[in-house]
Amino acid sequence: MKYVKSLVCINCGAKYEPKADRYLCDQCDEKGLLDVEYDYQAIAKDWSKDELAANQDKSIWRYTPLLPIDPLTKKPALAVGWTPIYETPALAKELGLENLILKDDGLNPTGSLKDRASAMAVVKAQEAGAKTVACSSTGNAASSLAGNIASMGGEMDAVIFVPERAPAGKLAQLLIYGAQVVSVQGSYEEAFYLSDEAIKKWGWYNRNAAINPYLVEGKKTISLEIAEQLNWLMPDWVVYSVGDGCTIAGAWKGLYDLQQIGFIDKMPKFLGVQAEGCAPITKSFKTGNPLEVESENTLADSIAVGKPRNWIKAVRAVKASNGDMINVSDEEILEMMKITGRTTGVFGEPAGVTGLAGLKKAIAEGIISTDAKVVTVITGNGLKDVANARKAAGDPLKVKPDMDQLVELFKELGVTK
Ligand SMILES: *Cc1c(COP(=O)(O)O)cnc(C)c1O
Ligand SMILES: [Zn+2]
Repeated sequence: MKYVKSLVCINCGAKYEPKADRYLCDQCDEKGLLDVEYDYQAIAKDWSKDELAANQDKSIWRYTPLLPIDPLTKKPALAVGWTPIYETPALAKELGLENLILKDDGLNPTGSLKDRASAMAVVKAQEAGAKTVACSSTGNAASSLAGNIASMGGEMDAVIFVPERAPAGKLAQLLIYGAQVVSVQGSYEEAFYLSDEAIKKWGWYNRNAAINPYLVEGKKTISLEIAEQLNWLMPDWVVYSVGDGCTIAGAWKGLYDLQQIGFIDKMPKFLGVQAEGCAPITKSFKTGNPLEVESENTLADSIAVGKPRNWIKAVRAVKASNGDMINVSDEEILEMMKITGRTTGVFGEPAGVTGLAGLKKAIAEGIISTDAKVVTVITGNGLKDVANARKAAGDPLKVKPDMDQLVELFKELGVTK
């Protein structure tokens, strides 16, 4: 924490002492999201790329000088971060690009980028003196919290509020990790407000990403890694899918921090991608108007957020980068699950490939030129949502256990060897 100066309200500029359980500005309420402000000069003086390169810790904690934590706080045992990047010539060609790099964040311990925020929540909860961490979610935020808490070996507990409509498959990960799961007989919104009241009543730590300034700092490690893995040479564009807006805001903050300490000298443009059936942030970005709540009409459940709570930071990030936002249909998302799998061997869930689907469209619309250098992140693993993968991929060839029939079928398909 020695490099953290304060928490700054993005709405009114008020500054707060960086207490672990400080979430919002007292004056501005839900608009008063806070940013973690660092002493960049001191970090630049004490830290170097060489020192980082020599660090054997291949997890998000290798970036501790740029994280709002006490280095001595116990970390969850799961190895979060340092996911691989791939050059993807076949996928690049398919999209008409010369240069495309993919980072597979579905390879995090619980299968999504959310592990970066949840690991941070486990650390900050201890610093706040809390043993229990709570959140309301049906998806990756909840499962990553449950997994990271479980890796503390019984020292901490997770309480997860899920709406009644939460599909059975999604509950499995939570229950396997041993979280206390509360199924609220109501909507997601109602589950959120009940969790909020319970958090206040019992003094639990709050892992609701949009209002907790530290969680965005966990998410920003995606950018710190990309920059280091690319040897500090920034691409022209980075592309993210957008739900609540924390991921893209965090990714931008990470690069902003690196620029401030002189590790990179260029900010790439950010392309934010939402699903057509639920795109309130794109709308606000395009119109300049305050956010209007939308219904949640997309199969990309991880970004189906009708009332995003971090839209201000997301819009600010995309604008500051001179970037853009775009929407894609569910059909385009399903198609991209298939294209990505076939051309790269990386299996993303629908929200995990939504960025790529948006990239394809942005190239077609001339927003991104074909000679641009682009990086995108697969944010969640496809095995989390097998039903939609099957929808995208179709059925296998069915045969009786009979060689003649197989030969006949292969002949029809034109398979000759
Ligand atoms: C949460 C999530 C996102 C989007 O992050 P936001 O902070 O909600 O914008 C994208 N993809 C996956 C797989 C996610 O779980
Ligand atoms: Zn304020």
